[in-house]
Amino acid sequence: MRILLTGAAGFIGSHLTDRLLAAGHAVIGVDNTVTGSRENLAHLEDQPDFTYLHHDVTYPLDLDEPLDWVLHFASPASPPKYLALPVETLRVNAEGSYHLLELARAKGAQFFLASTSEVYGDPLVHPQPESYWGHVNPAGPRSVYDEAKRYAEAMTAAYYRTFGLPIRMIRIFNTYGPRMDAYDGRVVTNFINQALAGRPLTVYGEGSQTRSFQYVDDLVTGIVRLMDVPYHGPVNLGNPEEYTVLQLAQLIREMTASSSEIVFEPLPQDDPKQRRPDITLAQELLGWQPGVPVREGLARTIDYFQKRLVCASS
Ligand code: NAD
Ligand code: UDP
Repeated sequence: MRILLTGAAGFIGSHLTDRLLAAGHAVIGVDNTVTGSRENLAHLEDQPDFTYLHHDVTYPLDLDEPLDWVLHFASPASPPKYLALPVETLRVNAEGSYHLLELARAKGAQFFLASTSEVYGDPLVHPQPESYWGHVNPAGPRSVYDEAKRYAEAMTAAYYRTFGLPIRMIRIFNTYGPRMDAYDGRVVTNFINQALAGRPLTVYGEGSQTRSFQYVDDLVTGIVRLMDVPYHGPVNLGNPEEYTVLQLAQLIREMTASSSEIVFEPLPQDDPKQRRPDITLAQELLGWQPGVPVREGLARTIDYFQKRLVCASS
């Protein structure tokens, strides 16, 4: 198949590109590298089935070639990044989704949206099933991301209802792994890089808030399985292994054999207190569940950042 993937130079997009190419598809990767990096795609330079297009998908994309799929993964995703790019984040999910849905419709292609567990906001239901409508502050700082994704879901669902466009929507829970941006400010990258550098690990608040951490390969497996299943509602993809942020800091400190201290810094506004996916739907629909335990995924991620540190210092 011929697949257009936005956000291809990002963390998840680059792993998804690899998996799609390995399955024999042709991939057109689109990105404007606002939070991603061409380095994530550098290994594909001589791959004839991969084409890179530098483009801001907030604006329409003119393409002559036919497409079987449009996968929309472009969006800043880490809180410090989307807080620094508030209007861009709203627009890539709003106008970007609209233009890409139109592109899919014009090409007779299927459309796949990367949404987020953030649509559940600071959830009052735990764990979160897809049927939960969420608890979101519509005008708070995080709304530039969570309301943007809620709008993108609404727009995608409208194209299904109105035009019969075949769609998929996933709600991704915290995902980590190699090729994350070391400086994007997310918790896993911050803690690993702080621990490796012997700097203090910065726990926000008391560290009692929870997150559930999914290794990127598991996510990519869920994505490609869902492409084969004509289900048009939102599907949670995440690893139900839930940790407090303080537990994660302690685990990473232990796994890196670091003597870094743990320091406590102010909790950002509207930071969700808990988050864990109910993955019953994905299990039933896709026969999918995460296969990489957090310890193992963290070990691979630590190894990746350790090697980068060694390269940078040699
Ligand atoms: P990332 O920042 O590494 O990747 C996003 C990519 O989108 C980057 O390469 C960026 O340059 C590109 N992009 C952003 N705006 C663009 C624009 N206007 N035009 C073209 N390209 C643009 O983040 P990620 O973690 O790989 O996230 C990928 C997708 O998954 C995002 O849609 C994000 O919301 C979603 N998601 C990620 C997580 C997670 O834990 N990583 C969780 C929930 C949802
Ligand atoms: N966090 C933290 N220290 C950091 C970075 C993040 O304690 O250096 C916390 C953050 O406040 C949140 C959790 O870790 O409660 C996950 O943050 P992240 O930015 O990775 O993703 P989120 O799930 O908030 O989108």
